[in-house]
Amino acid sequence: MNFEKRLTKIMRAEAPSLFGPGALTRGNVDRYHLHKLQAALRYAARNSSFYRERFRKAGAAPEDIGTLADIEKLPLTEPGEVAASPFRFLCLSRSEIARVHAFVTSGTTGPQKKIFWTQNDLDRIIRFLAAGIGTVAGRGDVVNVWLPAGLPYGQADLLSRGVKKIGAKPVIAPMDIRSEDHLRLIRESRATVIFGSTRLILRLTRELQYSHDLSRLGVHTLFLTSEYLPPGARTDLQRIWNCRVSTHYGLTEMGLGVAVECEAGDGYHFNEAGLLAEIVDPETGRPAAPGDEGELVFTTLTREAMPLIRYRTGDISRLITAPCSCGAKALGKFAAVGKRLEAIALLAGGEKIHPSLIDGVLMDMPGFVDWQAVIDRRDEREILHFRVELTEPDTGKIPEMKKRLFAIPALAKSIQAGWMAEPLIGIASPGELRGTGTGKRLIRSAG
Ligand SMILES: [Zn+2]
Repeated sequence: MNFEKRLTKIMRAEAPSLFGPGALTRGNVDRYHLHKLQAALRYAARNSSFYRERFRKAGAAPEDIGTLADIEKLPLTEPGEVAASPFRFLCLSRSEIARVHAFVTSGTTGPQKKIFWTQNDLDRIIRFLAAGIGTVAGRGDVVNVWLPAGLPYGQADLLSRGVKKIGAKPVIAPMDIRSEDHLRLIRESRATVIFGSTRLILRLTRELQYSHDLSRLGVHTLFLTSEYLPPGARTDLQRIWNCRVSTHYGLTEMGLGVAVECEAGDGYHFNEAGLLAEIVDPETGRPAAPGDEGELVFTTLTREAMPLIRYRTGDISRLITAPCSCGAKALGKFAAVGKRLEAIALLAGGEKIHPSLIDGVLMDMPGFVDWQAVIDRRDEREILHFRVELTEPDTGKIPEMKKRLFAIPALAKSIQAGWMAEPLIGIASPGELRGTGTGKRLIRSAG
């Protein structure tokens, strides 16, 4: 069953009276969104002390929202506000919370966030994850889930439950599994789909591709999440595994699973049964012009424990409203997220770089496994220090890497103008940059 059909089923179950017997139309979805939005706002104003106060101060009441466009009358919610006082967002008593996800989004920086769920919230997450994984797997598939495991209703467990819902079998791989052991797990479990972070799956591929024929394992889809996948690296993965490569966009605050790439391969259909998406200008917070790039903002429509209204994701994207060539008739899309606001590093000369630019030039280089970068501003000129992991530590590849880095206009310009020294590249030992693969990538500052 395709994604649109599954989402239709979920929406019908959430609001049976709004839908007729026919196929889903955009009009149905808009009507559903307005109905759910109004209910979600009334619920939050009544039950969350944060939103009660927020709406009062803004002079806005849920009753003022008569159309979807009216949502811009409401203030945005900042991630820092959730981190600072999570309990003020709670809409029910602590005894009704079934699960808490506590996490930091970017490696080790930033305050910890806590997101609360009721059992109904968790059940909705699982239903959506089933719809997402259903785009690449079905009955009889074995899905290798490579996500942080442990507690019930943790990431790996939630996806595993979604996998079971579509009649497939989940097999969880430990986050720190060595590549050779992972290969054995894939073989022995007869995995047909691998779901995991882009960075870790690229590492797995590089560490095994020269000693094994990965195209003969029977894996028909790599389903990647967490980080941007540059086009060159995608082609590489498709060729090496001889399989489909699809990507997923997730955000813990929005229910972990948020959006999946469709066969059209250009953008993501998202959880329109549970979320309303907007694009705003990150500087002013005002709605972006239709089709323009800006910050993705989500409003939860069905959340019980902790609704989030106009929540800023920090992710840069744009909405795509043209009909999708995959055949989805009623669902919208947003473009792949290549930039996150907090990951954009401002260089001394005013140029900006972000990790996906570096991924874009380095990740499809033969034998390239992973990188880390630190900007050092302590000297007269800025300098980027790279640690780079290759399948075989080989300083002979440094000139090629430099050449590729110079292909990033912001870096080339800064270096030519003398604002920045040539990057320094150090070769890491195999496995050195492995990490846990759960934090999102940042270019850090030294000193
Ligand atoms: Zn589509």
